[in-house]
Amino acid sequence: MGYNARMSLLTEIFRNKARTFSLEVFPAKTPEGHAKLLETLKGLCALKPDFISCTYGAGGGSRERTLEVVQHIESVHGIAAMAHLTCVSHTRSEMTAILDDIRGRGISNILAMRGDPPKEQPDWKPGPEHFKYSSELVAYIRGRYQGDVAIGVAGFPEGHPLAADREADARVLREKVRSGADFVITQLFFDNKDYFDYVERLRRLGVQARVIPGVLPVTDYAALLRFCALCGATVTPEVRGIFEPLAGDPQATLKAGIAYAIRQCRALLEGGAPGIHLYTLNRIHPTDAILGAIRPPTGSS
Ligand SMILES: Cc1cc2nc3c(=O)[nH]c(=O)nc-3n(C[C@H](O)[C@H](O)[C@H](O)COP(=O)(O)OP(=O)(O)OC[C@H]3O[C@@H](n4cnc5c(N)ncnc54)[C@H](O)[C@@H]3O)c2cc1C
Repeated sequence: MGYNARMSLLTEIFRNKARTFSLEVFPAKTPEGHAKLLETLKGLCALKPDFISCTYGAGGGSRERTLEVVQHIESVHGIAAMAHLTCVSHTRSEMTAILDDIRGRGISNILAMRGDPPKEQPDWKPGPEHFKYSSELVAYIRGRYQGDVAIGVAGFPEGHPLAADREADARVLREKVRSGADFVITQLFFDNKDYFDYVERLRRLGVQARVIPGVLPVTDYAALLRFCALCGATVTPEVRGIFEPLAGDPQATLKAGIAYAIRQCRALLEGGAPGIHLYTLNRIHPTDAILGAIRPPTGSS
């Protein structure tokens, strides 16, 4: 399949499309899981998203797989892809080698993050040989590769759990953009007001970068509660009211999860969001149903 690396640069795609519809997958831990993911990617790529991103295991454990998945999406399916990358627990010289490996594989889109300390070392603190914050990593990537890479960063509509407050968190985001980030993908949230207020807060600070809302369709309510407790996203009374009574009924949860995600995405788009980044959890369904319902039939621009 013909593939033009320059055209896969997300900054180019954003220049041409007011709205993008993109997906996130995570790398598998085993060879069997990886083979299954490649099958799933066939189905996800057939949905023709504008791009697909692949997460990076804490501490870089999944690095090889993340990069393989990104290369696979671009070279086999001809769809732009982005590698997530975290710098926690890597030294600067290790990061240089990792970045050169990424560029050597022809990968041009990077979601640059600090990441969280490894589970077995929750008190890990960066030393002088580490990047302390994602903004330092962003500045380093931009300085080393200039316009040859598109750099995204993580945004937190409700504030990062460790930020003093939402204003302080917005100033951190401004620093990431000043350091060279091109665009933002947000943490999941359920109250769209949190997203729109966040964008407004950023604009007040002079941040003009594209802020793409990340949306998680609820397919497993117990897992959602666990994840939100970790990442600090609020499970709103509305979400509790819908999904709590459905506990133990996976089919009803899936149906309600699709309906909620469609409503949420439509309201985001109607309010001016520049697209949707769907957390697929490596599932073709419900991704297909949601994308089919929210994307204009003629394409995504
Ligand atoms: C869209 C998205 C994708 C993600 N993908 C992954 C993934 O693939 N792999 C993974 O391991 N994790 C992933 N995460 C989780 C992310 O790594 C964690 O949320 C992590 O805790 C923060 O990373 P960051 O890049 O935002 O860190 P930073 O921007 O460095 O911020 C970390 C903390 O430091 C504070 N801070 C930052 N700069 C300053 C400063 N100059 N002065 C004072 N305080 C500061 C911030 O407020 C925040 O509390 C993702 C998150 C999102 C939203």
